[in-house]
This record gives sequence, C-alpha cells and structure tokens, in this order.
Amino acid sequence: MSSSYFVDADGYYGEFGGAFVPEMLHGNVEELREKYLDIITDEAFQSELSRLLHDYAGRPTPLYFAPRLSAELSAKVYIKREDLLHTGAHKVNNTLGQILLAKRLGKKRIIAETGAGQHGVATATVCAMMGIECVVYMGALDVERQAPNVARMRMMGARVVPVNSGSKTLKDATNEALRDWINNPESTHYIIGSVVGPHPFPDMISRFHAVTSREIREQLKRAEGRELPDTVVACVGGGSNAIGAFYHFIDEAQVQLIGVEAAGCGVDSGETAATMRLGSPGVLHGSMSLVLQNDDGQILEAHSVSAGLDYPGVGPQHAHLQKSGRAKYVSITDAEALQAAFELARLEGIIPALETAHAFAYLKQYEPKSGEVIVVNCSGRGDKDMAAYLTELNKQEA
Ligand SMILES: *Cc1c(COP(=O)(O)O)cnc(C)c1O
Repeated sequence: MSSSYFVDADGYYGEFGGAFVPEMLHGNVEELREKYLDIITDEAFQSELSRLLHDYAGRPTPLYFAPRLSAELSAKVYIKREDLLHTGAHKVNNTLGQILLAKRLGKKRIIAETGAGQHGVATATVCAMMGIECVVYMGALDVERQAPNVARMRMMGARVVPVNSGSKTLKDATNEALRDWINNPESTHYIIGSVVGPHPFPDMISRFHAVTSREIREQLKRAEGRELPDTVVACVGGGSNAIGAFYHFIDEAQVQLIGVEAAGCGVDSGETAATMRLGSPGVLHGSMSLVLQNDDGQILEAHSVSAGLDYPGVGPQHAHLQKSGRAKYVSITDAEALQAAFELARLEGIIPALETAHAFAYLKQYEPKSGEVIVVNCSGRGDKDMAAYLTELNKQEA
C-alpha cells in the first residue's frame, strides 16, 4: 500500500516514525531496510507464510456475527476471532512472519523483549517450531508477576533472562535486548512485538498483521454482501492488532476507524496508559511518536489493569492516523474494561483478554446509526487474565 497514511520512502508517517538508533545498530537496521520488502513480498515466502498461518496458527479466524450483543446495541456487531489463534492472541501473525524473515536473512539466533510475556510466548513458540535458539529479555518484576508465561517459554526451550536494571519492567528489557543485538549483529534477529521500533519494523509488522483486515473484507462480503464495514474498533497498546484490523480499510474513507487505549485509573489520575490522549512527540525505542513523558522528556511509567496495554508509547502510524484525523482514539478505564469482559462472557460466551475488553467497553458509549455494521477485533482470549477476573467475581458475589 502506498498513500499518505502509510510509510514514506524515508520511513516516516507524516512527522512520526524514522529510525533513531545508536551507531552500533545502523548496520542491522540498514540491512533490514534494504531487504525486507523483497523478502516478504517474494512468492515463495508468501506461500510458506500462508501455509503456516493456516496449518499452524489456525487462520482464517472466524468473523462471528454476535446476535445478543447486536440486539443490545441495535447494530450489527461482528467479532473477529483472533483469540482463537494458536497461543491465544494475534501476536503469532507477527512472530511467524519474522521467523521466516530471520531464516531468509541467514540468522541463527532470535532475541525478543516481553512485558506481560505474551510476545515472549509467541516468539518462543515459532522458534521451537523452527528449531532456532531463542533468548527472551524480561524485567525481573515481570518475571515474578507472569510466572505461567515464563514457564511456557522455558518449556518450549527459550532462555528467559530477567533484567534487574531500572524499573525491572518492559522498557528495561527492551534496552537489554538492544544491547544484545549490538553485540551479536551477524548471528541474531530481534523480533519486536508491536508496530513500534525503528523503521522498517512498524511497516514490516503491520504487513504481517494486515491478514486480519484482508480476511474481514472477504468474510463480510459473504455475510453482508459488501466488503466494507461502517466501523472497526480495536484496542491499542503498541497498536499491532489495531493496525491489522484497520490496514485494508485505511484508504477507504467511509470506514470509521476507532482505536481504544487504556485510561488505567482515569486519564487525569496519573495512573494511565492513555498515550494518544496525553502523549507528546518524542523518541522511544527507535522511532518518533507520541510518548508519555514529563516536561524534561523523562519517560513516565504507564498503568493499566491489562499488562499488554501498559506501554508509554504507541506505534508511529497511529500517531499519524490520529493527527491527520483519519482514525479516532478513545480511552477506557480499568473498571470499564473489567465490566465489559463480564458482559461479553455472559452475552456471547466469549471471555476476552483484558486488553481486548477495552475495545468492547467502548461499544457501551458508542451510538451507532441504525443497522450499522461494526467489526470489533477480538485480539486475544482471557485465559491469562483469569486471576484478575476471579478477584472481580469474588467482589461481585460478596
Ligand atoms: C499484546 C496484546 C495487545 C496489545 O498489543 P498491540 O500491539 O496494541 O496489539 C492487545 N491484545 C492482546 C490480547 C495482546 O496480547
């Protein structure tokens, strides 16, 4: 795709994007920039990726018409079931693409960073499947908080390295992964987990997730006789599942695109991850985008009940889609997301991830036109969040 909403020849989306990396990483990033398009658009690559997406990950995912939720809203709500993918979320679309790319680049070793552990699991999964060495950097605090995902990664043969510097969370793990990449430029590929990082990562990763909106178009055509929904809604952490759901609609001006970020305890509470709303332009993890920072440019800690949305940055394409007015971004609190997860569970028998619940929560404030066709991207399933849901259940029943 090439339009003013997609990356330009210099790696920018309007004023956002670019590649801000230390001198020592120029070689790696430059190699990727030169080769990624040729590799991933190659026919043999595409057919191997399609086969794995189908046979291994479980694509195409269903586009489910949700009758009870639709009745509640007086609209036609379709749920794109990315939660049914192997490993339980959309992230495997990206890690499958990148592991094939790493092989074509002749890399023998994979590194990744992870916060909640979901990207670490999706990376460890494809490395096991391909028989490639995998090292996952994870903040020491997150290693403690996300024990089940640490166990999954280890069971699949990945080495999980706890990072004890700084706040011992995702941002420190990312710094450690970058340091590793600097020291092992020849052998190693760094699988970044969302549409963030230096160019060409955001563009490359968005192309791997674009399969979601490609399928939505075909499936809607069969279900509704038209490829274009009126509205697409998706949650936004770094923004990868949202870009995947938006991608093939971005140049269709009549499709309304809505990204839902995490307000945490509230946009003005100081405990929030509402980067689109509160962020200002700055460089984080290799690109210029909106960033939660103080007046001195110090990155602020983000808060959300969902570990996957609690990130102080956002992909540069989202910053541009907001600034240009093409997409709209709203925010939902922890409490609203929790409530929406219970409502979806009881209306449709689908327990969403806490991240995903933010997208569903927005429907409650949304006023659809009569008969409006809305697609909600169900980015992941709630198994990993059962402890939080159980606490809430016990509260409700007390
Ligand atoms: C990681 C994750 C997210 C947030 O990441 P994006 O890059 O914004 O998609 C959202 N939903 C689920 C289920 C996740 O695991």
